Amino acid sequence: MRKMYIIAAAWLSLLLLAACSDGVSNGSGGNSADSSLAAAPAAGNRAIHEPDRTSGPGSSDPVYSGPVYKVVIDPGHGGEDPGATSVSGRFEKEFNLSVSQAIAEKLADDPQLQIELTRTGDAFISTHELYRPEFANDLPADLFISIHGNTYEDASASGTESFYYHDESLVFAETIHKHVILATGLKDRGVKAANFFVLRETEMPSVLLELGYLTNPGDEAKMWTNEFQEAVASSIADGIKEYLQLD
Ligand SMILES: [Zn+2]
Repeated sequence: MRKMYIIAAAWLSLLLLAACSDGVSNGSGGNSADSSLAAAPAAGNRAIHEPDRTSGPGSSDPVYSGPVYKVVIDPGHGGEDPGATSVSGRFEKEFNLSVSQAIAEKLADDPQLQIELTRTGDAFISTHELYRPEFANDLPADLFISIHGNTYEDASASGTESFYYHDESLVFAETIHKHVILATGLKDRGVKAANFFVLRETEMPSVLLELGYLTNPGDEAKMWTNEFQEAVASSIADGIKEYLQLD
């Protein structure tokens, strides 16, 4: 009887081992969103891997087989192009990247979304003017969001505004702006049409956000805080989900 028990226990162990290794090999697909975030912005390195989101038997990952929306987050400027210089002497490119990475982090685990950044470091991608829209068009992306901080010669200029170009982008811009304005808590400068090349040349709904004025002491003080950037990133994530009608 004792021998039977030992044999049964050994079999059970083997079965468990088999199930675990199966889960490891199949579960890796669930993290593909993370690897996509690491995509280098260097030209010619834009190979996009269709995310493998299938889970085999034995895996604890829920099976997701619905549509995967590709969203490009574009941190404005970078490298030799610093963008605006803030009141305290910091560069807009740094603010843009920080907020963009926070957005990507908030959405990385959502199997319904594939998030791509046009740059993940301080890369100078403005050498080729159309790099950003071409990056999005080549994917092809479903949505494009360019992140910026504003600048003006008059330091009293303040607030948050959102820009679109094609009429097809208006509803998307309004949806994102509605969420973002609550998060920044700054003056609402509205949703406006503007002929920015990243908006004009992108072939999907696109919006350019000027989250606040880095040249305004009040706006700037808030904009560098983790609290502000996290709230803004969450609001943009919510806006994306609302527009795409995701949970
Ligand atoms: Zn800018």
